[in-house]
Amino acid sequence: MIESDTGYETRDTDSELASLDSSPVNSPELVNTPPLSAIPSDGISLFDTHCHLDAGLFTEDIEAVVERAAAAGVTRMVVPGLDLGNAAAVLALAEHFPDVHAAVGVHPNSAAGWRDEWIDRLRELARHPKVVAIGEIGLDYYWDKTPPEVQHKALAQQLELAAELSLPVIIHNREASADIIDMLATSPLNGHERPGVLHSFSGDWATAEAALAMGFYLGFTGPLTYKKADDLRAIAARVPLDHILIETDAPYLTPHPYRGKRNEPAYVRFVAERLAEVRNLSLSEVAEITTANALRLFGIDSRQSTTVRNN
Ligand SMILES: [Zn+2]
Repeated sequence: MIESDTGYETRDTDSELASLDSSPVNSPELVNTPPLSAIPSDGISLFDTHCHLDAGLFTEDIEAVVERAAAAGVTRMVVPGLDLGNAAAVLALAEHFPDVHAAVGVHPNSAAGWRDEWIDRLRELARHPKVVAIGEIGLDYYWDKTPPEVQHKALAQQLELAAELSLPVIIHNREASADIIDMLATSPLNGHERPGVLHSFSGDWATAEAALAMGFYLGFTGPLTYKKADDLRAIAARVPLDHILIETDAPYLTPHPYRGKRNEPAYVRFVAERLAEVRNLSLSEVAEITTANALRLFGIDSRQSTTVRNN
């Protein structure tokens, strides 16, 4: 079994996006988060569709983290799985917090020991009423954790499982855009009503366009707020509004102005603010649009936090 803690260290210190500005990123000794007095709650409702609340950096103060999120207007969250080892922790969080939902899946960097039986285990886990997606799954050619052919096999089988269960997928893509698009195009999710999200989007416009044509949503994270991320903001300016999600990927990819500190769901508000600027919308418009998108993609009833299944 894969030890999920080691996965966190290697997995997500994330992306080429992190190099877009020169300040130190998520240094592990900076566990304390500054107070969020600068983030007032003003009746807006945000949905952080990607936060790793089961990460070791949150074990000390998870209740306070979720309270701060609520105070900042972040009323809903999705916690993605990384492997079969962390699924229990992810589901426990979703059981404990009414507005936290879960995904289950095997991340490409945790897929080295992939066995076909893992699909049966994921199928069982996905029966949990708080599971709203299969993820995070995908391809990662940056870290040399799993041979590409094993990554492809794990991804293909999990895409099929998602289609079988009528669940969307949460896709991790690091330096693998061409293969991701190829595999999504040939998967049964292509053209599905709610196929999934390209999480923490970092590709070019051609990749965005190809994903959007298949019905996928694009998720934007902290790098949208980084000084040098003009190319990413140009993409965020072009994506149809009804296919945009906002995410933190907490504890990683902390947005400006808290870059270098631990990320947490409350900070998705900074991503929303930047998106509002890029799209020439108000923060409350961005909140309304992205929250509606997330509820639609993940099949969550807006009045109660129950999951709507197609089967
Ligand atoms: Zn993630």
